[in-house]
Amino acid sequence: MLAAKLVSIMTDTIAVPSIPTFPTERLLVTPIPGPLSQAMHRRREAVVPVGVSSVLPVYIAKAHGAIVVDIDGNQFIDLGAGIGVTTIGHTDDAVVDAASAQLADFTHTLFTITPYEGYIRVAELLAEHTPGDHAKKTVLVNSGAEAVENAVKIARKYTGRGGIAVLEHAYHGRTNLTMAMNFKAAPYSTGFGPFAGDVYRAPNSYPFHDGLDGATAAKRTISYLEKTVGATDLACLVVEPIQGEGGFQVPAAGYLPALQDWCTANGIVFIADEIQSGMARTGAYFASEHFGLVPDLVLSAKGIAGGLPLAGVTGRSEIMDAAQPGGLGGTFGGNPVATAAAIAVFEQIESLGLLAEARRIENVLKTGLSALQEKYPIIGEVRGIGAMVAIELVQPGTHEPNAAAVTAIASYAAQHGVIVLTAGTYGNVLRFLPSLAISDELLLDALSVLDEAFAAL
Ligand SMILES: *Cc1c(COP(=O)(O)O)cnc(C)c1O
Repeated sequence: MLAAKLVSIMTDTIAVPSIPTFPTERLLVTPIPGPLSQAMHRRREAVVPVGVSSVLPVYIAKAHGAIVVDIDGNQFIDLGAGIGVTTIGHTDDAVVDAASAQLADFTHTLFTITPYEGYIRVAELLAEHTPGDHAKKTVLVNSGAEAVENAVKIARKYTGRGGIAVLEHAYHGRTNLTMAMNFKAAPYSTGFGPFAGDVYRAPNSYPFHDGLDGATAAKRTISYLEKTVGATDLACLVVEPIQGEGGFQVPAAGYLPALQDWCTANGIVFIADEIQSGMARTGAYFASEHFGLVPDLVLSAKGIAGGLPLAGVTGRSEIMDAAQPGGLGGTFGGNPVATAAAIAVFEQIESLGLLAEARRIENVLKTGLSALQEKYPIIGEVRGIGAMVAIELVQPGTHEPNAAAVTAIASYAAQHGVIVLTAGTYGNVLRFLPSLAISDELLLDALSVLDEAFAAL
Protein backbone atom coordinates (compact mmCIF):
# COMPACT_ATOMS: atom_id res chain seq x y z
CA MET A 1 0.00 0.00 0.00
CA LEU A 2 2.69 2.44 1.06
CA ALA A 3 4.94 1.37 -1.81
CA ALA A 4 2.13 1.87 -4.31
CA LYS A 5 1.50 5.31 -2.93
CA LEU A 6 5.17 6.29 -3.20
CA VAL A 7 5.31 5.14 -6.79
CA SER A 8 2.24 7.15 -7.64
CA ILE A 9 3.77 10.27 -6.06
CA MET A 10 6.93 9.76 -8.04
CA THR A 11 5.17 9.27 -11.37
CA ASP A 12 3.27 12.50 -10.69
CA THR A 13 6.53 14.37 -10.39
CA ILE A 14 6.80 17.08 -13.00
CA ALA A 15 9.85 17.24 -15.22
CA VAL A 16 11.00 20.80 -14.66
CA PRO A 17 13.32 22.01 -17.39
CA SER A 18 16.61 23.40 -16.15
CA ILE A 19 16.83 27.09 -16.87
CA PRO A 20 20.09 28.30 -18.40
CA THR A 21 21.50 31.75 -17.68
CA PHE A 22 19.01 34.41 -18.59
CA PRO A 23 19.04 38.06 -19.64
CA THR A 24 18.14 40.72 -17.07
CA GLU A 25 14.68 41.59 -18.31
CA ARG A 26 10.98 41.03 -17.82
CA LEU A 27 9.78 38.27 -20.13
CA LEU A 28 6.46 36.43 -20.32
CA VAL A 29 6.22 33.21 -22.30
CA THR A 30 2.98 31.77 -20.86
CA PRO A 31 -0.12 33.09 -19.09
CA ILE A 32 0.53 33.50 -15.34
CA PRO A 33 0.67 31.02 -13.68
CA GLY A 34 1.97 28.86 -16.53
CA PRO A 35 1.08 25.20 -17.08
CA LEU A 36 4.08 23.80 -15.20
CA SER A 37 3.40 26.08 -12.24
CA GLN A 38 -0.24 25.01 -12.27
CA ALA A 39 0.74 21.35 -12.23
CA MET A 40 3.21 22.01 -9.42
CA HIS A 41 0.48 23.82 -7.51
CA ARG A 42 -1.74 20.74 -7.65
CA ARG A 43 1.10 18.66 -6.17
CA ARG A 44 1.56 21.25 -3.45
CA GLU A 45 -2.12 21.30 -2.56
CA ALA A 46 -1.97 17.60 -1.68
CA VAL A 47 0.90 17.96 0.79
CA VAL A 48 1.27 21.58 1.99
CA PRO A 49 -1.35 22.93 4.40
CA VAL A 50 -3.53 25.85 3.33
CA GLY A 51 -2.21 27.85 6.29
CA VAL A 52 0.97 28.32 4.26
CA SER A 53 -0.26 30.47 1.39
CA SER A 54 1.61 32.03 -1.53
CA VAL A 55 1.11 35.54 -2.89
CA LEU A 56 1.88 34.46 -6.46
CA PRO A 57 1.90 30.71 -7.10
CA VAL A 58 4.50 30.66 -9.84
CA TYR A 59 7.18 28.16 -8.89
CA ILE A 60 10.73 29.45 -9.10
CA ALA A 61 13.57 27.77 -10.92
CA LYS A 62 16.29 30.41 -10.78
CA ALA A 63 16.95 33.96 -9.70
CA HIS A 64 19.68 36.52 -10.05
CA GLY A 65 19.91 40.19 -9.14
CA ALA A 66 16.36 41.54 -9.28
CA ILE A 67 14.96 38.93 -11.68
CA VAL A 68 13.29 35.64 -10.77
CA VAL A 69 12.54 32.97 -13.37
CA ASP A 70 9.72 30.48 -12.96
CA ILE A 71 9.66 26.86 -14.11
CA ASP A 72 7.68 27.86 -17.22
CA GLY A 73 10.47 30.28 -18.20
CA ASN A 74 8.66 33.52 -17.27
CA GLN A 75 10.93 36.24 -15.91
CA PHE A 76 9.66 38.62 -13.25
CA ILE A 77 11.01 41.92 -11.99
CA ASP A 78 11.13 41.31 -8.25
CA LEU A 79 10.07 44.39 -6.28
CA GLY A 80 9.62 42.35 -3.10
CA ALA A 81 12.95 40.54 -2.69
CA GLY A 82 11.25 37.84 -0.61
CA ILE A 83 10.10 40.62 1.77
CA GLY A 84 13.37 42.48 1.84
CA VAL A 85 15.59 39.43 2.21
CA THR A 86 17.64 39.34 -0.98
CA THR A 87 18.57 42.96 -0.37
CA ILE A 88 21.90 42.74 -2.16
CA GLY A 89 20.32 40.75 -5.02
CA HIS A 90 19.41 37.13 -5.68
CA THR A 91 22.42 34.77 -5.88
CA ASP A 92 24.95 37.55 -5.38
CA ASP A 93 28.24 36.01 -6.53
CA ALA A 94 30.16 36.84 -3.34
CA VAL A 95 27.43 35.34 -1.16
CA VAL A 96 27.23 32.19 -3.28
CA ASP A 97 31.03 31.78 -3.15
CA ALA A 98 31.28 32.36 0.61
CA ALA A 99 28.41 30.02 1.43
CA SER A 100 29.67 27.33 -0.96
CA ALA A 101 33.16 27.42 0.52
CA GLN A 102 31.75 27.15 4.04
CA LEU A 103 29.49 24.25 3.00
CA ALA A 104 32.57 22.32 1.99
CA ASP A 105 34.50 23.16 5.19
CA PHE A 106 31.85 22.39 7.81
CA THR A 107 28.12 23.00 8.02
CA HIS A 108 27.40 22.56 11.70
CA THR A 109 29.14 22.02 14.98
CA LEU A 110 26.76 24.06 17.20
CA PHE A 111 28.32 27.26 18.49
CA THR A 112 27.29 26.32 22.04
CA ILE A 113 29.33 23.08 21.77
CA THR A 114 32.40 23.84 19.66
CA PRO A 115 32.43 27.42 18.36
CA TYR A 116 33.86 28.99 15.19
CA GLU A 117 34.98 32.38 13.91
CA GLY A 118 32.06 33.24 11.57
CA TYR A 119 29.69 33.79 14.49
CA ILE A 120 32.16 36.15 16.14
CA ARG A 121 32.76 38.05 12.89
CA VAL A 122 29.02 38.63 12.38
CA ALA A 123 28.77 39.87 15.98
CA GLU A 124 31.70 42.24 15.32
CA LEU A 125 30.09 43.54 12.12
CA LEU A 126 26.76 44.10 13.86
CA ALA A 127 28.51 45.90 16.73
CA GLU A 128 30.24 48.12 14.19
CA HIS A 129 27.19 48.92 12.04
CA THR A 130 24.32 49.25 14.54
CA PRO A 131 23.84 52.76 15.94
CA GLY A 132 25.96 53.96 18.89
CA ASP A 133 29.59 53.39 19.81
CA HIS A 134 28.98 51.74 23.20
CA ALA A 135 30.15 48.16 23.83
CA LYS A 136 27.74 45.71 22.18
CA LYS A 137 27.18 41.97 22.08
CA THR A 138 25.08 39.79 19.75
CA VAL A 139 23.21 36.51 20.03
CA LEU A 140 22.44 34.84 16.68
CA VAL A 141 19.24 32.91 16.05
CA ASN A 142 17.30 31.61 13.03
CA SER A 143 14.38 33.91 12.37
CA GLY A 144 13.04 37.35 13.02
CA ALA A 145 10.40 36.12 15.44
CA GLU A 146 13.06 34.27 17.38
CA ALA A 147 15.10 37.48 17.60
CA VAL A 148 12.06 39.30 19.00
CA GLU A 149 11.49 36.50 21.53
CA ASN A 150 15.12 36.63 22.67
CA ALA A 151 15.17 40.42 22.93
CA VAL A 152 12.13 40.27 25.21
CA LYS A 153 13.72 37.51 27.32
CA ILE A 154 16.88 39.55 27.73
CA ALA A 155 15.03 42.80 28.53
CA ARG A 156 12.93 41.02 31.16
CA LYS A 157 15.96 39.44 32.79
CA TYR A 158 17.85 42.75 32.79
CA THR A 159 15.02 44.85 34.20
CA GLY A 160 13.33 42.27 36.41
CA ARG A 161 10.02 43.50 34.94
CA GLY A 162 7.43 41.72 32.80
CA GLY A 163 5.56 44.23 30.64
CA ILE A 164 6.10 44.49 26.89
CA ALA A 165 4.97 47.64 25.07
CA VAL A 166 4.32 47.57 21.33
CA LEU A 167 2.69 49.95 18.86
CA GLU A 168 -0.45 49.86 16.78
CA HIS A 169 0.09 48.47 13.26
CA ALA A 170 3.18 46.56 14.44
CA TYR A 171 4.20 43.16 13.13
CA HIS A 172 6.70 41.02 15.03
CA GLY A 173 6.21 37.41 13.90
CA ARG A 174 4.21 34.21 14.14
CA THR A 175 5.40 32.52 17.34
CA ASN A 176 3.18 32.55 20.39
CA LEU A 177 4.72 35.65 22.00
CA THR A 178 5.04 37.57 18.74
CA MET A 179 1.44 36.79 17.74
CA ALA A 180 0.45 38.60 20.92
CA MET A 181 2.66 41.53 19.91
CA ASN A 182 1.16 41.95 16.41
CA PHE A 183 -1.54 44.52 15.78
CA LYS A 184 -3.46 42.58 13.18
CA ALA A 185 -5.25 39.42 14.28
CA ALA A 186 -6.33 38.09 10.88
CA PRO A 187 -4.65 36.10 9.52
CA TYR A 188 -1.73 35.94 11.94
CA SER A 189 -3.38 34.87 15.16
CA THR A 190 -7.05 34.14 14.46
CA GLY A 191 -7.96 30.99 16.39
CA PHE A 192 -4.41 30.33 17.62
CA GLY A 193 -4.83 31.45 21.25
CA PRO A 194 -4.42 31.54 24.18
CA PHE A 195 -1.73 34.17 23.71
CA ALA A 196 1.12 35.39 25.90
CA GLY A 197 0.08 38.07 28.37
CA ASP A 198 1.62 41.31 29.64
CA VAL A 199 1.69 42.87 26.14
CA TYR A 200 0.43 46.49 25.91
CA ARG A 201 -0.34 48.08 22.56
CA ALA A 202 -0.16 51.86 22.32
CA PRO A 203 -1.14 54.25 19.52
CA ASN A 204 1.72 54.98 17.11
CA SER A 205 2.58 57.87 14.81
CA TYR A 206 0.88 57.55 11.42
CA PRO A 207 1.03 61.05 9.96
CA PHE A 208 -1.20 60.33 6.93
CA HIS A 209 -4.05 59.30 9.22
CA ASP A 210 -3.53 61.00 12.57
CA GLY A 211 -2.10 64.30 11.29
CA LEU A 212 -0.17 64.64 14.57
CA ASP A 213 3.30 66.12 14.88
CA GLY A 214 5.93 63.94 16.52
CA ALA A 215 5.77 65.55 19.95
CA THR A 216 1.97 65.25 20.14
CA ALA A 217 1.96 61.65 18.90
CA ALA A 218 4.70 60.72 21.39
CA LYS A 219 2.76 62.33 24.23
CA ARG A 220 -0.27 60.25 23.25
CA THR A 221 1.77 57.00 23.17
CA ILE A 222 3.51 57.70 26.47
CA SER A 223 0.40 58.82 28.28
CA TYR A 224 -1.42 55.69 27.07
CA LEU A 225 1.34 53.45 28.43
CA GLU A 226 1.62 55.35 31.70
CA LYS A 227 -2.12 55.04 32.30
CA THR A 228 -2.66 51.44 31.15
CA VAL A 229 0.51 49.81 32.54
CA GLY A 230 2.81 52.28 34.27
CA ALA A 231 6.42 52.80 33.26
CA THR A 232 7.80 50.88 36.25
CA ASP A 233 6.12 47.66 35.09
CA LEU A 234 7.53 47.81 31.56
CA ALA A 235 10.59 45.77 30.63
CA CYS A 236 10.76 47.04 27.07
CA LEU A 237 9.20 49.03 24.26
CA VAL A 238 9.56 47.33 20.88
CA VAL A 239 9.23 49.56 17.81
CA GLU A 240 9.83 49.18 14.10
CA PRO A 241 11.46 52.53 13.15
CA ILE A 242 9.59 52.22 9.83
CA GLN A 243 6.76 49.72 10.17
CA GLY A 244 6.96 46.88 7.65
CA GLU A 245 3.75 44.87 7.38
CA GLY A 246 1.93 47.90 8.81
CA GLY A 247 2.60 49.77 5.57
CA PHE A 248 5.95 51.59 5.71
CA GLN A 249 4.70 54.41 7.95
CA VAL A 250 7.47 56.92 8.50
CA PRO A 251 6.77 58.36 11.97
CA ALA A 252 6.52 62.14 12.38
CA ALA A 253 9.79 63.93 13.16
CA GLY A 254 10.69 63.73 16.83
CA TYR A 255 8.28 60.89 17.64
CA LEU A 256 10.77 58.05 18.05
CA PRO A 257 13.44 60.13 19.87
CA ALA A 258 10.79 61.21 22.39
CA LEU A 259 9.88 57.55 22.98
CA GLN A 260 13.51 56.62 23.39
CA ASP A 261 14.07 59.47 25.90
CA TRP A 262 11.06 58.34 27.91
CA CYS A 263 12.36 54.74 27.93
CA THR A 264 15.81 55.83 29.05
CA ALA A 265 14.40 58.03 31.81
CA ASN A 266 12.24 55.15 33.08
CA GLY A 267 14.61 52.19 32.83
CA ILE A 268 12.66 50.62 29.94
CA VAL A 269 14.76 48.78 27.34
CA PHE A 270 14.22 50.46 23.95
CA ILE A 271 14.22 47.77 21.26
CA ALA A 272 14.33 48.60 17.54
CA ASP A 273 12.85 45.80 15.44
CA GLU A 274 14.88 46.49 12.28
CA ILE A 275 14.12 43.09 10.81
CA GLN A 276 12.60 44.66 7.70
CA SER A 277 14.11 48.17 7.78
CA GLY A 278 17.71 47.21 8.57
CA MET A 279 20.69 45.93 6.62
CA ALA A 280 21.12 48.89 4.23
CA ARG A 281 17.52 48.84 3.00
CA THR A 282 16.88 52.52 3.77
CA GLY A 283 20.26 53.90 2.67
CA ALA A 284 21.65 53.57 6.20
CA TYR A 285 22.70 50.31 7.78
CA PHE A 286 19.76 50.67 10.15
CA ALA A 287 16.73 52.96 9.78
CA SER A 288 17.18 54.09 13.41
CA GLU A 289 19.96 56.34 12.09
CA HIS A 290 17.48 58.47 10.12
CA PHE A 291 15.75 59.37 13.37
CA GLY A 292 18.87 59.87 15.50
CA LEU A 293 18.05 56.81 17.62
CA VAL A 294 20.54 54.74 19.55
CA PRO A 295 18.41 51.74 20.56
CA ASP A 296 19.41 49.59 23.53
CA LEU A 297 18.79 46.48 21.43
CA VAL A 298 18.60 46.20 17.62
CA LEU A 299 17.04 43.21 15.86
CA SER A 300 18.26 42.06 12.45
CA ALA A 301 17.05 39.22 10.26
CA LYS A 302 15.59 39.27 6.73
CA GLY A 303 18.34 40.95 4.67
CA ILE A 304 21.27 39.91 6.82
CA ALA A 305 22.46 36.75 5.05
CA GLY A 306 21.37 37.01 1.42
CA GLY A 307 18.50 34.56 1.89
CA LEU A 308 20.04 32.12 4.33
CA PRO A 309 18.21 31.92 7.66
CA LEU A 310 19.94 34.09 10.24
CA ALA A 311 18.82 36.68 12.75
CA GLY A 312 20.38 38.53 15.63
CA VAL A 313 19.83 40.54 18.76
CA THR A 314 22.56 43.16 19.15
CA GLY A 315 22.69 45.39 22.17
CA ARG A 316 24.41 47.08 25.05
CA SER A 317 26.79 44.58 26.61
CA GLU A 318 25.45 45.08 30.13
CA ILE A 319 21.92 44.27 28.95
CA MET A 320 22.94 41.33 26.75
CA ASP A 321 25.02 39.85 29.58
CA ALA A 322 22.00 39.79 31.90
CA ALA A 323 21.04 36.35 30.53
CA GLN A 324 22.74 33.51 32.40
CA PRO A 325 25.10 31.05 30.63
CA GLY A 326 22.95 28.53 28.75
CA GLY A 327 19.96 30.88 28.78
CA LEU A 328 20.38 31.88 25.14
CA GLY A 329 21.02 29.83 22.01
CA GLY A 330 19.51 27.03 19.99
CA THR A 331 20.62 24.21 17.74
CA PHE A 332 20.88 26.11 14.47
CA GLY A 333 21.48 29.66 15.75
CA GLY A 334 24.40 31.28 13.94
CA ASN A 335 24.78 28.42 11.48
CA PRO A 336 28.25 28.52 9.84
CA VAL A 337 26.93 28.69 6.25
CA ALA A 338 24.52 31.48 7.17
CA THR A 339 27.22 33.45 8.99
CA ALA A 340 29.59 33.07 6.02
CA ALA A 341 26.84 34.47 3.79
CA ALA A 342 26.20 37.34 6.22
CA ILE A 343 29.87 38.34 6.26
CA ALA A 344 29.77 38.46 2.45
CA VAL A 345 26.60 40.58 2.60
CA PHE A 346 28.33 43.16 4.82
CA GLU A 347 31.35 43.18 2.49
CA GLN A 348 29.17 43.64 -0.59
CA ILE A 349 27.25 46.53 1.00
CA GLU A 350 30.61 48.29 1.33
CA SER A 351 32.27 47.28 -1.93
CA LEU A 352 29.20 47.85 -4.12
CA GLY A 353 28.30 51.10 -2.34
CA LEU A 354 24.80 49.81 -1.65
CA LEU A 355 23.82 52.55 0.81
CA ALA A 356 24.01 55.00 -2.09
CA GLU A 357 22.13 52.56 -4.32
CA ALA A 358 19.24 52.57 -1.84
CA ARG A 359 19.06 56.36 -2.17
CA ARG A 360 19.14 56.09 -5.97
CA ILE A 361 16.24 53.64 -5.83
CA GLU A 362 14.28 55.93 -3.50
CA ASN A 363 14.71 58.73 -5.98
CA VAL A 364 13.56 56.71 -9.01
CA LEU A 365 10.63 55.13 -7.17
CA LYS A 366 9.41 58.33 -5.52
CA THR A 367 9.69 60.33 -8.74
CA GLY A 368 7.78 57.69 -10.69
CA LEU A 369 5.16 57.06 -8.01
CA SER A 370 4.58 60.78 -7.41
CA ALA A 371 3.95 61.18 -11.15
CA LEU A 372 1.39 58.36 -10.89
CA GLN A 373 -0.16 60.08 -7.87
CA GLU A 374 -0.80 63.20 -10.00
CA LYS A 375 -2.58 61.04 -12.59
CA TYR A 376 -4.46 58.73 -10.25
CA PRO A 377 -6.13 60.34 -7.22
CA ILE A 378 -6.61 56.97 -5.53
CA ILE A 379 -2.92 57.19 -4.55
CA GLY A 380 -3.33 58.94 -1.22
CA GLU A 381 0.31 59.03 -0.19
CA VAL A 382 3.79 58.12 -1.45
CA ARG A 383 6.13 57.50 1.49
CA GLY A 384 9.22 55.68 2.70
CA ILE A 385 12.98 55.99 2.91
CA GLY A 386 15.58 54.40 0.63
CA ALA A 387 14.48 51.19 -1.06
CA MET A 388 11.53 50.95 1.34
CA VAL A 389 8.81 52.90 -0.44
CA ALA A 390 5.04 52.47 -0.36
CA ILE A 391 1.86 53.98 -1.74
CA GLU A 392 -1.37 53.99 0.22
CA LEU A 393 -4.52 53.66 -1.89
CA VAL A 394 -7.70 55.42 -0.80
CA GLN A 395 -11.15 56.27 -2.06
CA PRO A 396 -10.37 59.44 -4.06
CA GLY A 397 -10.49 62.61 -2.00
CA THR A 398 -10.70 60.76 1.32
CA HIS A 399 -8.43 58.73 3.62
CA GLU A 400 -10.72 55.71 3.39
CA PRO A 401 -8.75 52.55 2.58
CA ASN A 402 -9.05 51.07 -0.91
CA ALA A 403 -7.93 47.47 -0.53
CA ALA A 404 -9.76 46.33 -3.68
CA ALA A 405 -7.58 48.59 -5.82
CA VAL A 406 -4.42 47.23 -4.18
CA THR A 407 -5.48 43.67 -4.95
CA ALA A 408 -6.28 44.58 -8.56
CA ILE A 409 -2.98 46.42 -9.11
CA ALA A 410 -0.87 43.63 -7.57
CA SER A 411 -2.66 41.07 -9.69
CA TYR A 412 -2.28 43.10 -12.91
CA ALA A 413 1.42 43.58 -12.14
CA ALA A 414 1.92 39.84 -11.56
CA GLN A 415 0.14 39.02 -14.83
CA HIS A 416 2.57 41.39 -16.55
CA GLY A 417 5.78 40.13 -14.95
CA VAL A 418 6.22 42.37 -11.92
CA ILE A 419 6.15 41.06 -8.34
CA VAL A 420 4.76 43.68 -5.96
CA LEU A 421 3.85 43.10 -2.34
CA THR A 422 0.93 44.49 -0.42
CA ALA A 423 0.86 45.65 3.20
CA GLY A 424 -1.12 47.69 5.68
CA THR A 425 -3.57 46.90 8.43
CA TYR A 426 -6.40 47.59 5.97
CA GLY A 427 -4.64 45.86 3.05
CA ASN A 428 -4.53 49.14 1.12
CA VAL A 429 -0.78 49.64 0.76
CA LEU A 430 1.52 48.58 -2.07
CA ARG A 431 5.08 48.34 -0.84
CA PHE A 432 8.22 48.34 -2.91
CA LEU A 433 11.35 46.83 -1.39
CA PRO A 434 13.46 45.69 -4.32
CA SER A 435 17.00 44.45 -4.17
CA LEU A 436 19.57 47.24 -4.04
CA ALA A 437 21.05 45.65 -7.18
CA ILE A 438 18.03 46.60 -9.29
CA SER A 439 18.81 48.88 -12.25
CA ASP A 440 16.99 52.09 -13.15
CA GLU A 441 15.87 50.37 -16.38
CA LEU A 442 14.08 47.59 -14.47
CA LEU A 443 12.54 50.08 -12.04
CA LEU A 444 11.25 52.25 -14.88
CA ASP A 445 9.89 49.21 -16.70
CA ALA A 446 8.08 48.12 -13.51
CA LEU A 447 6.70 51.64 -13.02
CA SER A 448 5.33 51.58 -16.58
CA VAL A 449 3.50 48.34 -15.76
CA LEU A 450 2.06 50.00 -12.65
CA ASP A 451 0.93 52.94 -14.77
CA GLU A 452 -0.92 50.52 -17.07
CA ALA A 453 -2.36 48.77 -14.03
CA PHE A 454 -3.82 52.01 -12.62
CA ALA A 455 -5.13 52.96 -16.05
CA ALA A 456 -6.85 49.55 -16.31
CA LEU A 457 -8.67 49.88 -12.95
C1 LIG B 1 9.40 39.61 9.07
C2 LIG B 1 9.40 40.36 10.33
C3 LIG B 1 9.46 39.71 11.57
C4 LIG B 1 9.44 38.20 11.69
O1 LIG B 1 10.54 37.61 11.06
P1 LIG B 1 10.48 36.06 10.68
O2 LIG B 1 11.88 35.78 10.18
O3 LIG B 1 9.46 35.92 9.62
O4 LIG B 1 10.16 35.32 11.90
C5 LIG B 1 9.51 40.49 12.71
N1 LIG B 1 9.52 41.83 12.63
C6 LIG B 1 9.47 42.49 11.47
C7 LIG B 1 9.50 43.97 11.46
C8 LIG B 1 9.40 41.77 10.27
O5 LIG B 1 9.32 42.43 9.12
